[in-house]
Amino acid sequence: MRRISTLLLIACCLIIPAYAFADDDLAYDLGSRAAEVGMDLLKFEAGDGNVLALTNAGHAVIKGKTTERALTGLSEKTGLSNGDNNLFQVNRPSWKPLWFYFYNKDSGMAAYMEPDPEFLSMSIDQRESLPADKAFSQVSLIVADLDSMLANPNDGNTTFNRKKFGGNEFSLIGISNSWAAGADYDFMNAAAFHDHLCPGINSGYLIIKYVAKNLPITNAAAETYIDIGCPNWCKEDAFQMIWDSTPGKNSMFVMALSPEDEKTLTAKYGTRPAGIIIRWNDGAKTGKGLALGFDFDIVSKETGVAEWTGPAWAPKLIQDIGMMEYTDRPEAVVTTLKEFDVDEPLLAKLKTAGNNPYKVLGMM
Ligand SMILES: [Zn+2]
Repeated sequence: MRRISTLLLIACCLIIPAYAFADDDLAYDLGSRAAEVGMDLLKFEAGDGNVLALTNAGHAVIKGKTTERALTGLSEKTGLSNGDNNLFQVNRPSWKPLWFYFYNKDSGMAAYMEPDPEFLSMSIDQRESLPADKAFSQVSLIVADLDSMLANPNDGNTTFNRKKFGGNEFSLIGISNSWAAGADYDFMNAAAFHDHLCPGINSGYLIIKYVAKNLPITNAAAETYIDIGCPNWCKEDAFQMIWDSTPGKNSMFVMALSPEDEKTLTAKYGTRPAGIIIRWNDGAKTGKGLALGFDFDIVSKETGVAEWTGPAWAPKLIQDIGMMEYTDRPEAVVTTLKEFDVDEPLLAKLKTAGNNPYKVLGMM
């Protein structure tokens, strides 16, 4: 009996690793093939500084397995890497299909592909017999440069209406055009975490720049930023990525603000309330807070979309790029509505469910 089980054990050891390897290899194979197809379509050589790769590899799950090996396959072939600011993992739910996107800022062209479900169930031998592009059921090669799209809006309409990037059009065009316009690595990271770029992430980034000037960290060992995100919007995701202020670590508390209260505050202070940021010293148990406002009206006016009559897909993308102009002068759009000292009892009131933090601060 012992001998039989030993034999079985040996047999299993011989068989299981082979199957495990076949499965592990699939994501690498897909990443490597996507790289080959992308390089062919966009005509670039490995390490081309004009090219950005975006993918949800690692987040997407195929046949019960995470797909991070696709990143290795993609990187090895294209020379693109996160460390060089030209490969980003864009956040997506695990159940969404895997996709790959390449953008060439020199030509303004983008290539997008999604694996063919049939390819995913093939054996290694079957896969090996197929050329790289046969791994994908949807392959798009289209103009994604925003200026070119605005010059030919019908092409842009087709891209959006026919979901040429599998429903990821807004996300991928926004992120890649911002990258081409010189977006910094931390901004790209926040956009990738948020899953798309919208003026909301830009507003969070500008609040971060504003706070760095007006409420800077002075004691790196003891201080953190606590966000009372009321009202919350996309900006909160920039705070999580760049400040590491997260709900799980008690440094972010988000709550909705009723439309009436928002209206009251906007009328009183002349700008839309954009939440409360506290620089908290966890050793001294004291902090300083800023209730902030953010003026989207200025952004709309200055980026030329206030009276927009063009294609519906364009205004937010135009704002994404236009708002990069404020990076060095965030005070053009961010204002301090109230500055105040914080102690433990006040912090407790500000973050406790049921309290309107603006009422706690006597602002309304
Ligand atoms: Zn958003």
